[in-house]
Amino acid sequence: MGDDPEVVRRNLELLAEAAGVAPASVVAVTQVHGDRVVHASDANPQTEADALWTLTAGVAVGVRTADCVPILFEDRKTGAVAAVHAGWRGVIAQIAARTVEALVAQGSDPSDLHVAIGPCIQRCCFEVDGDLPARFRGAFGDEVIAPQPGKDRVHLDLPRAVAMTLARWRVPEGQVVALPQCTHCDDRFFSHRREQGRTGRHLSFITCVPAAGL
Ligand SMILES: [Zn+2]
Repeated sequence: MGDDPEVVRRNLELLAEAAGVAPASVVAVTQVHGDRVVHASDANPQTEADALWTLTAGVAVGVRTADCVPILFEDRKTGAVAAVHAGWRGVIAQIAARTVEALVAQGSDPSDLHVAIGPCIQRCCFEVDGDLPARFRGAFGDEVIAPQPGKDRVHLDLPRAVAMTLARWRVPEGQVVALPQCTHCDDRFFSHRREQGRTGRHLSFITCVPAAGL
């Protein structure tokens, strides 16, 4: 936010070059903290959604985050890939599960999915109050709640809740990697909370390559 659009464009070009994809092939949408999953070929930058998938070789799907959880999916059998943006609203709406369902509808078996959960605001920093602790406890149990002694507020573990969602949808635990970095307390990252909204966004993307043997 507030960055020169030309600099952002150039950075995206450099990133795409380094990753060996054409900059125009990275499909991204307008993220709205919902649970809608769309096919990349039906999406444009104005499309409102928080998850994108593709089975088209050479197409990359990406999400932008700064504290929210970026989640990348890969099916090593069918070649399908997906990128998901999940803040607390998306986590509790189980957008990760909606994404598994979308991939299953395209022929994936959950046991073939490999998932990376990227840097986000972690349990150390994600302090919440109001009805959120009870809603998360109801959906995921005490495992995702870290009470803060002497405070009304608690800390939530969003990546843990995502991992639990994936396990419920039969993605093998050993195929889910969650990076430990916290965007809020590690200042190498953009953090919406730390910078009070005036910050950049990380782009997490994954490219579909032809599946082996197809
Ligand atoms: Zn932290």
